[in-house]
Amino acid sequence: MTEQQEPHVLIIGAGLTGLFIAHGLQRANIPYTLFEAEEAGTYRSREWTMGVHWGVPLIEKLLPPDLMARVIPEASVDKTLDYVTPPTNGSRIYDGVTGDVLKELVSEGKLIRVSRRKLRGLIAERIEVKFGHRLEEITYDDDKGTATARFTNGTSSTGTTIVGADGPRSQIRSLLFGPAEAAAQPLTGIVHLSSTFSYRDAEKAKFVRTAHPVWSMAIHPEVFAYVCIQDVPNPDKPEDWVYFVFICWMGERDPSLSPEDVMKVAKEKGTKLQEPFRSAIQWIPEDVTFPYVDVSYWVAKSWDSHKGRVTLAGDAAHPMPPYRGQGLNHAVQDAYNFVETMKKIKAGEVAKESSVQEYGEEVAKRGSEETMMSTKNAYMMLAYEDFKESPYMKHGLSKR
Ligand SMILES: Cc1cc2nc3c(=O)[nH]c(=O)nc-3n(C[C@H](O)[C@H](O)[C@H](O)COP(=O)(O)OP(=O)(O)OC[C@H]3O[C@@H](n4cnc5c(N)ncnc54)[C@H](O)[C@@H]3O)c2cc1C
Repeated sequence: MTEQQEPHVLIIGAGLTGLFIAHGLQRANIPYTLFEAEEAGTYRSREWTMGVHWGVPLIEKLLPPDLMARVIPEASVDKTLDYVTPPTNGSRIYDGVTGDVLKELVSEGKLIRVSRRKLRGLIAERIEVKFGHRLEEITYDDDKGTATARFTNGTSSTGTTIVGADGPRSQIRSLLFGPAEAAAQPLTGIVHLSSTFSYRDAEKAKFVRTAHPVWSMAIHPEVFAYVCIQDVPNPDKPEDWVYFVFICWMGERDPSLSPEDVMKVAKEKGTKLQEPFRSAIQWIPEDVTFPYVDVSYWVAKSWDSHKGRVTLAGDAAHPMPPYRGQGLNHAVQDAYNFVETMKKIKAGEVAKESSVQEYGEEVAKRGSEETMMSTKNAYMMLAYEDFKESPYMKHGLSKR
């Protein structure tokens, strides 16, 4: 037994990572306080969808069973889909030149396609979030073995360990490494655009979904397209189904273009693809925009945990391009590992200083490997001739 203080964890950031950690600690009766920079009213604003595959068994261990049972009915993109059996527990990659299927991506178990907004809303239930608290600074008290988080609203809070789940532009990562070393790098040489909309026409919506009921991708020498169902409010009203379309190509943004001109360029790129990808892009309604999006990454390095008093989890530790659908799965692994570490500290089985440091070293190693693989995959999605050698073709959706 190691003699040490009772843990009180300060979680910074109520994205999915912070909320999973909160549930895991709550289940283990470990005290915590969760702080979020956003105000309660804006909290569910940013939206995209994610495939959770190898992370599902870990989520089952973190969430209370009754909340887990509500994930598919309340937080998936289409509650009527079977997320266990192929093809709907996966995705499909097409050759955009010939229209042939290049690869059927299936998960070994469940693959649940979730809405970030809906999942965040669901798992924020039963968790007290202190909104409007943007972390600015951390100070350490060596005598008491504590760390104090200071917020821009003038308040502060003291705990035994602070976990930074504050996303891809993490302030805590910046405090640990310094702003220059912690800065995420843009994925250069690729232009990315994304749009979320309904086709407002049942036949068009159904035709686009013939590529795959959940999500599909097309590889082409001049453009990569990713088409995903985002929300099915009513399966019998395809005109209202919400789609997320993401395209990219090798090149640089043209900042002089108006939103209408960007849409014209995107639609011109879309004409290169076989159906239904061509129409998926051509049929984007005129009043919808297709803006440029930033994609960045940071190759994780291990950090000094200040004697077990500070660490990172999720995108704060390893922001990665979303090209292999792994970020959230790794975030769940981090949340699970962090909670297990805290349980052992509480039980007196391990020392806080060494175990929190070891937790972070494993996160940095696993996160950096995946970030490099996802970054490589991003460029290979646009390297038509070499695509067969890409991580997607070799490893599919697996962890490695
Ligand atoms: C388009 C897209 C598609 C993706 N697809 C997949 C996929 O298919 N599969 C997959 O596994 N992953 C996918 N991902 C990655 C996944 O979305 C992320 O890995 C995951 O959402 C990270 O969650 P997080 O909680 O770590 O970060 P975030 O969701 O960014 O949450 C961080 C939270 O911290 C708060 N915060 C920030 N700064 C502070 C501060 N100083 N003080 C207090 N609070 C702060 C923020 O307001 C936010 O609420 C995708 C990502 C994108 C963008």
